[in-house]
Amino acid sequence: MVSWACPNDGMQIPRVAQFGADATLVQFFWCWSCEELFAYVGDKAVLAASFAKDKSQQWRVWKVIGSEHERNMAVSVVTQVDPRQLQHGN
Ligand SMILES: [Zn+2]
Repeated sequence: MVSWACPNDGMQIPRVAQFGADATLVQFFWCWSCEELFAYVGDKAVLAASFAKDKSQQWRVWKVIGSEHERNMAVSVVTQVDPRQLQHGN
């Protein structure tokens, strides 16, 4: 399993989904400690944005880190990540 360090607390967080390839690649990493989903975009894996679940299990943009273009790439595919599949890890 691919895992990177959480930008907030340095926990090892697993990659839970990826979509596209090369310039359109978006990789999602879930930190169960922060309950925050991090989106890295492009072949350089730039951190674009993070997302948090709202009460209805929908993703909401939590932090915008990258450019507007990078943020839009992440937002366009985050709805394909099922929040209910992220309960494991502890
Ligand atoms: Zn974290």
